[in-house]
Amino acid sequence: MAYIEPAPIKDAENPLESMMERFNLAAEKLGLSDEVYNVLKNPAKQVIVSLPITMDNGKIKVFEGIRVIHSNILGPAKGGIRFAPDVHLDEVRALAAWMTWKCAVVDIPYGGGKGGVRCNPREMSKGEIERLMRAYTLAMIDVFGPDKDIPAPDMGTGPREMAWLMDEYSKAHGMTVNAVVTGKPLVLGGSLGRTEATGRGVMVSALAAMQKLKINPFQATCAVQGFGNVGSWAALLLEERGLKIVSVSDISGAYHNENGINIQEAIAYRDSNNGTLEGFKGAEKLTDPMELLLLDVDVLVPAAVEDVITTSNADKIKAKLIVEGANGPTSAKADAIINEKGIMAVPDILANAGGVTVSYFEWVQNRLGYKWTAERVNRRSDRIMKDAFDNVYEASVKYDVPMRIAAYIVAIDKVAKTYTFRGGF
Ligand code: NAD
Repeated sequence: MAYIEPAPIKDAENPLESMMERFNLAAEKLGLSDEVYNVLKNPAKQVIVSLPITMDNGKIKVFEGIRVIHSNILGPAKGGIRFAPDVHLDEVRALAAWMTWKCAVVDIPYGGGKGGVRCNPREMSKGEIERLMRAYTLAMIDVFGPDKDIPAPDMGTGPREMAWLMDEYSKAHGMTVNAVVTGKPLVLGGSLGRTEATGRGVMVSALAAMQKLKINPFQATCAVQGFGNVGSWAALLLEERGLKIVSVSDISGAYHNENGINIQEAIAYRDSNNGTLEGFKGAEKLTDPMELLLLDVDVLVPAAVEDVITTSNADKIKAKLIVEGANGPTSAKADAIINEKGIMAVPDILANAGGVTVSYFEWVQNRLGYKWTAERVNRRSDRIMKDAFDNVYEASVKYDVPMRIAAYIVAIDKVAKTYTFRGGF
């Protein structure tokens, strides 16, 4: 299954506003000065290019390509490239800033970036996509670089596109530069452990939170929304650690079994059934798939799409702990309801940062010219995730704020302090 680096917050609210709402709250709690606030609020670099591509019918079509570097204060920018019909500058800016906070929360030496090309890859041939990816790379040749800006896959792109990017960048530099991009195929320098990395980070965050809430994993129940890369790995690893997974769902519906679903069986069924759980016999199908979110479980893992916990259902949630595998599953307006109910929500920028952490490991391995074992990758990413959780938890106690705002506080504080040391002009 394709690996996707931190991505969409395409909610009903404006993505930039949704992010800024939480950023503003954290900045206020931190007492961030107006000067630094303005530095962090504005992207460092925004590049827009026109990409004329010869289509298969011989006609030339011009595409718009965007790359935004929100910040390179902590290090080179890091963030995916999306190929989608509705890509626009505002969205890319929000996602780039979001990457800054995500990298800072897990304390990896990266700033935040994001890119996109407005196109519909579903309607394009492989050759057209390849020409577009190569043209975009060449247009961004001075922006990208292992020490400047390191792209990755996002919506509509995957390892194949990253291989083309690496190749085009390498040709332009007259040498192989695999550290310019992550999410590459394994043979081109991709990292072991990357496929399960995000689900694994969700598991580590969930266990750390359960310890704080004094929930015994061996007596706990859990529901997981989404059974793709993140959801199925999170479910499997949580089950291995003692939790009873009573419900899972995918686009075909939600499946429930009070006695626990055998996750290995569910994965095997999905893999032999065109990637869906439709017809899965190990559980009963719920009439309304959204019921999964309202089940009386200890742990709820939304790992499908954005904006599923909103003001319309937040007050009916019974879980004690929410661990956000997906990006942006909770709308900013639902935050207050979740907090009032005393539910701990481990936010996306912390809980699903296992993916970007292993991307960072891919870059480290490429630069070392050495390949780590899966065991080493897992051990190191588990440690990073656990340390990040502990830091955010500590900040939530210190500032008396929910985990989400605490995560922003940790991130903003780190970037602001680094900026202050480095200084401006
Ligand atoms: P995926 O495409 O592998 O899986 C998505 C799953 O969600 C599928 O099972 C799909 O059927 C299901 N789904 C879609 N709409 C649904 C709905 N309305 N209700 C229930 N299920 C639904 O994607 P993924 O890589 O697992 O990503 C899931 C989320 O995690 C996304 O928000 C993504 O941005 C985020 N994320 C992924 C990674 C990663 O490493 N893959 C990293 C960080 C964040």
